[in-house]
Amino acid sequence: MEYLSYSQYNSYTQCPRSWYLSKIRKAEEKQTWFLPIGSAVHDMIEWALAHPHANPPSAEEFFFPLVAKQRLVEPDTSKWLAGGPKASPVVEGKALQLVKDCFERALEELEDIDVWEVEYDASGRLPGLSVPLKAYVDIRGEHKKKKIPVIWDWKTGSTKPGNFQVETYAALMPEHKWQARYVMLAPGKPKTRYVDLSEISPEVVGMKYQAVLEQMQAKIYKANAGFGCQFCFNQDNCLANAGVLPTRQAIYYDRSADDGYPY
Ligand code: SF4
Repeated sequence: MEYLSYSQYNSYTQCPRSWYLSKIRKAEEKQTWFLPIGSAVHDMIEWALAHPHANPPSAEEFFFPLVAKQRLVEPDTSKWLAGGPKASPVVEGKALQLVKDCFERALEELEDIDVWEVEYDASGRLPGLSVPLKAYVDIRGEHKKKKIPVIWDWKTGSTKPGNFQVETYAALMPEHKWQARYVMLAPGKPKTRYVDLSEISPEVVGMKYQAVLEQMQAKIYKANAGFGCQFCFNQDNCLANAGVLPTRQAIYYDRSADDGYPY
């Protein structure tokens, strides 16, 4: 382990087996609709902020190449994981429309702040954590009316995560007393409030990462089988999810019993 990131922390704490399959076994993950949706929206926002006087880009220009890239891995898009209701999942045209809607909302939201940086590299060290932490902040800036330094993280899905992601950013950037917001961009999602991060302790955040790092280093690859499996990128690679007839992929990739502790 040369470094950690919030996404690795999150992946491991949700299901150590999934982290093992992705990071240690480098298993071929299931393709999804939500990844290209999120990436296209992030890319469009970054482009729009870098070209403030140009016409906003078309969603198709950003979204289609990402979809095409994933189709090289899994051409049958009906096998991709998708969000939304089962009867009407967010795929194909609905997915493209979601990209457009999220981008429109992001432009409206951005009117509230002066942007300092996009995708700011906040990577660094935390006290008590023996490896560096990689972190990229979607938006750093200042709220125009409140005159406070703010961190924003765009979310195109429907679930607002816990605060630890933005707490990590605040711990890595102690030069300001930050307020943070997960900006929920999908239509119908309520506006989120700012979270006060002025009292975040880098020591406490560092200790939480170190505790997870030590479990990774101890090769604990426990499977948290349950509700999350239906949205897991590694559902075809995981013996714990395989039932009595494991897929060839699961037999090939999931060697958690040989490589570490699968319980
Ligand atoms: S399918 Fe379930 S148990 Fe298996 S790796 Fe994914 S979340 Fe973990």
